[in-house]
Amino acid sequence: MREAGRIVARTLQAMREAVRPGVTTLELNRIAETCLRDHGAAPTFLNYPKPDSPNFPTVITASINHELVHGIPSGSRFLKDGDIISLDVGCNYQGFVGDAAITVPVGEVSPAVKRLIAATDAALAAGIQASRLPNTIRDVALAVQRSAENAGYSVALEYTGHGVGQQMHEPPEVPNWWPRNERRSRIRFENVTLRPGMTYAIEPMLIAGRNELRELDDHWTVVTADRSWCAHIEHTIAVTDGDPVILTLL
Ligand code: MG
Repeated sequence: MREAGRIVARTLQAMREAVRPGVTTLELNRIAETCLRDHGAAPTFLNYPKPDSPNFPTVITASINHELVHGIPSGSRFLKDGDIISLDVGCNYQGFVGDAAITVPVGEVSPAVKRLIAATDAALAAGIQASRLPNTIRDVALAVQRSAENAGYSVALEYTGHGVGQQMHEPPEVPNWWPRNERRSRIRFENVTLRPGMTYAIEPMLIAGRNELRELDDHWTVVTADRSWCAHIEHTIAVTDGDPVILTLL
């Protein structure tokens, strides 16, 4: 998983270096596919299935501004100065998966947008810091939620991080919040006590406005209903008997 994570980190770095005004999201997808294949890794997202939907058509997800997650790269989608783009990629390498995402400013972005990205980074760091014994997944989720909400942002309720291993999506779900009243909540999660060797993706999705979401007609792209901007940053980590280890670093 460390090797798979390293390849994901290299791929994200290659895309980050290519982000500039005028680049299409399909070009970023091409860069990612080349990087994965050069390292002998297979793209996890390509052809990923979802009920009642076409399989996911590309190697990365590319989500711009008010698009939260799962944007589909396109040759007619050009990055503009002042945009932000979330780039998410996963790979399979020798039987194991790595999964990570970055949110990158395009050219010069406003101070408010820089703050949104920094807060998303901080929420991820809080989730990672909470990923230690004897905590539970609820502690991780609450660490992310408190960090995000204290900075003045809302979090996505319906989309979560997840266990990662030989599959991209394994139990448990790793939410970015926890219901205050678990019995009454419309959405519930299974709480799990952390154990050394557990590996999962933490992926805060912070929203500058309200956290009501919509899915576009392409069956994949998730946007904020009020078109407020959002950021999404992800690492796959391992729980140990000491500090958590980030697997998706160079
Ligand atoms: Mg993920």
